[in-house]
Amino acid sequence: MNDTSKQNAGTSSRAAELLAKLNSSRDASADERARVEGHARLVRAPGRVNLIGEYTDFNLGFVLPVAIDREVWIAFEAWDRPDVELTSVEINETRSFTFDGLAPRAGGSAFWIDYVAGTAWAMSRAGLPLCGFRGVLNSTIPVGAGLSSSAALEMAASLALADPAALRPSAAAMAAIAQQAENTYVGVNCGIMDQYASAAGREGHALLIDCKINKATPAQIPTNVSIVVCDTGSPHRLGSSAYNTRRSECELGARLIGEREPGVTSLRDVDEAMLARNRDRLPEVVARRCEHIVRENQRVMATVAALRDGDLEALGHLFAASHASLRDLFEVSSPELDVMVEIATSVPGVVASRMTGGGFGGCTVNLVSHGAEEALREKVVRDYSTHTGLGPKVYTVAAVDGASEIQVGPGGRSTGASRAIVFDE
Ligand code: ADP
Ligand code: MG
Repeated sequence: MNDTSKQNAGTSSRAAELLAKLNSSRDASADERARVEGHARLVRAPGRVNLIGEYTDFNLGFVLPVAIDREVWIAFEAWDRPDVELTSVEINETRSFTFDGLAPRAGGSAFWIDYVAGTAWAMSRAGLPLCGFRGVLNSTIPVGAGLSSSAALEMAASLALADPAALRPSAAAMAAIAQQAENTYVGVNCGIMDQYASAAGREGHALLIDCKINKATPAQIPTNVSIVVCDTGSPHRLGSSAYNTRRSECELGARLIGEREPGVTSLRDVDEAMLARNRDRLPEVVARRCEHIVRENQRVMATVAALRDGDLEALGHLFAASHASLRDLFEVSSPELDVMVEIATSVPGVVASRMTGGGFGGCTVNLVSHGAEEALREKVVRDYSTHTGLGPKVYTVAAVDGASEIQVGPGGRSTGASRAIVFDE
């Protein structure tokens, strides 16, 4: 079997399993209360790993995420009730909510279903019609590792909730709606990157997202490198306090520079010369945060050029500079992340390595020459625990398309539209 047919077989059995779970979870009394519309449907949305451009999104700068083949899937049947009833296989729990009177609660969300309810709330606010459904979800995205299981859940939910007869807004607009859900309903102050990557990913490509104009341009990943994610096993303790402090430090920097420099409303508008001219007006710690953002934006653009040119050496330098800047200037790395990068960098064939995501734990992202993936895994498994006492996880991931519906024909046979799957019956 080649890689693609192996992948298809894996996809088919996962789909068959989830649809079977949906069938077996059917509750006669619920079905009596509502008319089930049509046959079971299946939607998917990928997690993401960010190649470079960390903390730049809320500064309206550039990011370069990849949608990965770790995905949230929802199998569901639409029904004619304004309700959602969803079972998470991982959590082994069924939760429900009704569309009537959805509103953010003070203090944010308490339950996983709030990512789905928040998406319904944000879609409805944007004027999109909603459909109720009964469904089952499963996921291959580790939760809380920084690979954006939350954004994938929102994007998958947005597909299940959408009225199939209504026009679907662009991926950028849907990402902004899901971001609203997470910011306002769930109460997590994230930028747009995670939802955008999950919505608009492209197979074999990273996405250069310009967060000022909310526009994405695919950037092809050289075909001779793999993306390997190393999970430090220490959860990304993105104490919202640390994230919010960084955010306000960046905003303060932009405001102080903007008092002297016309046209500056965010750090996106600041270049190195401007920062140098105004450095004496900034508190020392704010100046360091600003320096990270200004240079990180440049590194994103340089990475896009290096990907285009297949310049692996440049990629190595750019990832190393980004990691050092996040560690020393932005101060969001951790001893575990630093050790993981150090170990990876010592493996022949590892082209580039850095922390990815919010930091304080979570994952590193590595570009690895084909054939060296196993050597990296072995070295990490051998050395990382010795240094930290923690169990690492290593995933080789592929760049995939953004959220979509998987077409399922009657009897579970695929019709193969957005993602070809052929069930082995
Ligand atoms: P991540 O980095 O994975 O996005 P977050 O803390 O932002 O971490 O989001 C994780 C949350 O998303 C979980 O606590 C849970 O509420 C929700 N979630 C993710 N995957 C699932 C799942 N398979 N089932 C139920 N809830 C999930
Ligand atoms: Mg998240």
